[in-house]
This record gives sequence, structure tokens and C-alpha cells, in this order.
Amino acid sequence: MDLSIVIPLFNEEESLPELAAWIERVVNAHHYSYEIILIDDGSTDDSWSVIESLQQKNQHIKGIKFQRNYGKSAAMNEGFKAASGEVIITMDADMQDSPDEIPALRNMIIEGNYDIVSGWKKKRYDNTFSKNLPSKLFNKAARSMSKIQLHDFNCGLKAYKKKVVKSIEVYGEMHRYVPVLAKWAGFRKIGEKVVEHRPRKYGVTKFGWTRFVNGFLDLLTIFFVGKFGKRPMHFFGLWGTLSFMFGSLVFIYLTISKFVFDVTGLTQRPLFFFAILSMIIGTQLFLAGFLGELISRNSIERNNYLIEDTLGL
Ligand code: UDP
Ligand code: MG
Repeated sequence: MDLSIVIPLFNEEESLPELAAWIERVVNAHHYSYEIILIDDGSTDDSWSVIESLQQKNQHIKGIKFQRNYGKSAAMNEGFKAASGEVIITMDADMQDSPDEIPALRNMIIEGNYDIVSGWKKKRYDNTFSKNLPSKLFNKAARSMSKIQLHDFNCGLKAYKKKVVKSIEVYGEMHRYVPVLAKWAGFRKIGEKVVEHRPRKYGVTKFGWTRFVNGFLDLLTIFFVGKFGKRPMHFFGLWGTLSFMFGSLVFIYLTISKFVFDVTGLTQRPLFFFAILSMIIGTQLFLAGFLGELISRNSIERNNYLIEDTLGL
């Protein structure tokens, strides 16, 4: 199969028929063999019956219905598991992403040999203050932490090689950082394509201001899990030891000044408290690293490696 189009949706009943018809137009014009996987993330409107009736008309449409609303990442994860096309395209269901971009994205994967191509909504039709500005800042932070030069991490429209989506797990609200997850999994050829963005025609946005808080925390998680997830001691152990050593040195200095130079009023000095604090924090950090190390030793994932190729086996 050439193409799987994965679409997570939550209460998008008005958009679905138009979206499906548009996608069909595009893929038929290019004679792709394809499937459209619609994941209903626990909608409370009639999205699922709309999907059922669409499926009656077109057998290429497939549906997954969640029992409740688990979030866009969960929906994407299930879509990725079900997808069987050589190229997987994700897009939002609200028609802010244009299906006309599909052929060009697919070409970049097939001919340009990209692992991922991410859409870039260079011109956005969203509120400037609640979305556009914060998202600029956000992308800057994501860029500098992940060293992936994308302008628009959170763009719903992306294309992937099959191998990429089968190697990663999207959970929490990590859908914003799929390129980062892919990079940690070892897929380095990550490209970008400017895509057309359209105003939301029906319904309302499903993410409020909490997107920024959660998005930032997820960025930190991803950074730490990716860098130190399999070796927590290298972070906590290092800083714990340094902090403890610093505290000890200060203590030695204070002790010498008391017994050798007869300085009085040790406990009145800020340095005294500083030393205690450093030693306590150092011990805590070290313990955190040690516990983390024990946990990662016991994790079932500890020896899961993605193998790109083998010879003679
Ligand atoms: N979505 C989802 N589950 C959720 C929230 C959103 O599947 O819990 C879907 C939503 O239906 C849409 C896509 O994720 O297809 C992007 O959501 P939205 O358009 O509200 O985000 P925005 O464009 O405002 O960033
Ligand atoms: Mg949208």
C-alpha cells in the first residue's frame, strides 16, 4: 500500500465528510493505493456515525473508536499501529491542513529519502496572542533542546516512513514532539515543507492555554528521558557528588578556621548554612540518581535496541 492517512479527531462531525471527499479526490488523481484511518478519540458528538456512513461508501476508510477521550497522542499511537502504508501521513481533522499537500509530502519521503517531513504553517490563521506568539517561543525552545531545525514542531500535517512510526511510541502529549522521538530512535533525515494553513471552518480548538504548560513539561521530559533515561546516574550522580564535595570543602574550611585560627560564631555565618544545604542536596541528588539507575536496570525496555540492518544472521 502506498499511503496511510492517519487522522485523530475529537468532536469533528461537521468537517469529516468534506475532509474525506477532498482526500479521495487527491489520492485518486495520483492513483495511490491508500487507506484513511480515522481515530475517534472519544467524541461526544456524532463523529462516529459519520465515520460509519463514510466507511459504507468507501472501503478505504477505516475507523478506530476510543471508549473515552485519551488525547491526540494516544489516537496517533493507535493510528500508527494500525497503519500499513509505505508512507504515513498524519493530519488534523478540522480541515486546517490541506490534503492537496499530500503528494508533495509523499514525494519528499520516497524520492528525497526523508525519514520525516514536517509541515510548516508559515502563514497561520490562528489568534496571534493566544497561539502564534507563544508557539514561536515554544518552537525556539524545542529547537535548541533537540537540535532539530524545524520551525513548527506542532504542525499536525507530517509524513513519515513506515519504519519510523513502527519504531516510536507516542504517549502523554508527545504528539508535539514526534520528530524528537524519532531523532532519539535514530532517524536523522528530518525535513520540512511549507504547507498551506487554513482557518478552522467548523467546531472549536480542542487545546486551551494548558497546551503551553503541558507542552513545556513534555519538552523537559523528552529531553531528560532521551539523554539520561538509560543512565540517570550520569546526571544526578554528577551534580550530587559535586554539590556534596563543595559542601564538604566548605565545612573543612570552617572547621580549620575554628580550631586552628580560633574564629568564633561559626553558626552565625551564611557559609555554614550554605555548606549544610549543599551536602543535603548533594546526598538527595545522588540518591535520586541511584534509585533511577536501579529502576532502569529493572525496566523491561533496558535492552531494547532498534536494529537497522543485519548481515549473515
Ligand atoms: N484532537 C484529538 N483528541 C483531543 C484533542 C484534539 O484527537 O483530545 C484532534 C482534533 O480533533 C484535531 C487535532 O487533534 O483533529 C488538532 O486539534 P485542534 O485543531 O483543536 O488543535 P489546534 O489546531 O487548535 O492546535
Ligand atoms: Mg486545528
